[in-house]
Amino acid sequence: MTPLEADIRRRITAAGPMPVGEFMSLCLTHPEHGYYVTRDPLGRRGDFTTAPEVSQMFGELIGLWMVTVWQQMGAPETVHVIELGPGRGTMMSDAMRAAKIAPDFIKATMLHFVEISPPLQALQEQAIGALGMTARWHRSQDQVPSGQAIVIANEFFDALPINQAVKMGDGWHRRCIGIGPDSAFRYEVEPQPMPHFEATLPPIVRQAREGEIFEWRSDHETIELGRRIAREPSAALLIDYGHVESATGETLQAVRGHLFADPLAEPGEADMTAHVDFEALSRSLEAIGPRAYGPIEQAVFLDRIGINARAQTLKTNASRAKLHDIDAAMARLTGSGRTGMGALFKVLALTHPKLAAPPGL
Ligand code: SAH
Repeated sequence: MTPLEADIRRRITAAGPMPVGEFMSLCLTHPEHGYYVTRDPLGRRGDFTTAPEVSQMFGELIGLWMVTVWQQMGAPETVHVIELGPGRGTMMSDAMRAAKIAPDFIKATMLHFVEISPPLQALQEQAIGALGMTARWHRSQDQVPSGQAIVIANEFFDALPINQAVKMGDGWHRRCIGIGPDSAFRYEVEPQPMPHFEATLPPIVRQAREGEIFEWRSDHETIELGRRIAREPSAALLIDYGHVESATGETLQAVRGHLFADPLAEPGEADMTAHVDFEALSRSLEAIGPRAYGPIEQAVFLDRIGINARAQTLKTNASRAKLHDIDAAMARLTGSGRTGMGALFKVLALTHPKLAAPPGL
């Protein structure tokens, strides 16, 4: 039994079945034993691969996107460039390398990383250190100083805990994790329905049949982001996998060694994510103040911000093997097949209402 499993068992024995959100939060970010706190999960030998790890083109294009947005902001002398959940720091280092074509932007940039993982923080330090840059690290967005900002996040919101409810004859019941007679973890529902829950749901979800599951995310990071973008002319670019419209359906998944795993088995040893509900996300952000653009498919966004031209440039003088790598990366980033990220991943941008529409959206 892992130390995290023992800890969760103790909590359930003491306080009763644990809501899915609390379980997911402990699995991923328990201060000692959480999945992200204890390892670098990325890459071929890790559990999953992300777009910036597929190709340098991804981060480079986002770097150029940030330069344009900074110009649209009126090229302020100081801008906080904030990345949420930066993984190995690959996206930011590719972005900043590409952004060197605008030295004034680099000069204006103050880098901030919002990260809870010590091993990943060390890799981020190395990655940007190699460019001669430094950053400040924060455990949550509310610790980042105020001021004009450009916020970027790839596969951050999908790692934030979701909660689940199950539709039953007498209303929506919160889904929890308890311990079964065979002493394994199992899903349970709270005996009483949640009062007034249905009224908060989008109309399509209210029509759910018995047994259907609805997922929602706790909103702390969303609210922080919305407030920052609404406060002073600022912008954000959020890239994640998920659905454009709110819907029922269970999307919570665990991935280990690039394969699906049982989310309840060996807590803290597998990555856990759930689709981002972009309708809910953009609604709650717009209610706070920023203007939302998108979501659009990643393939469309990358095409509009110039991935084809970037690939052509990289292909000039590339070896045969390298040519193959570039084509494979293009297919992975923009394809819509089983392994393609182009359609499953969506891009949502936010701007302060005074700013122009950001590039690509
Ligand atoms: N953006 C990176 C990594 C994605 S994995 C990439 O695309 O490669 C998710 C990242 O978010 C990791 O860096 C993880 O440590 C971080 N993370 C997860 N939950 C977090 C939380 N609650 N607060 C801050 N960072 C978190």
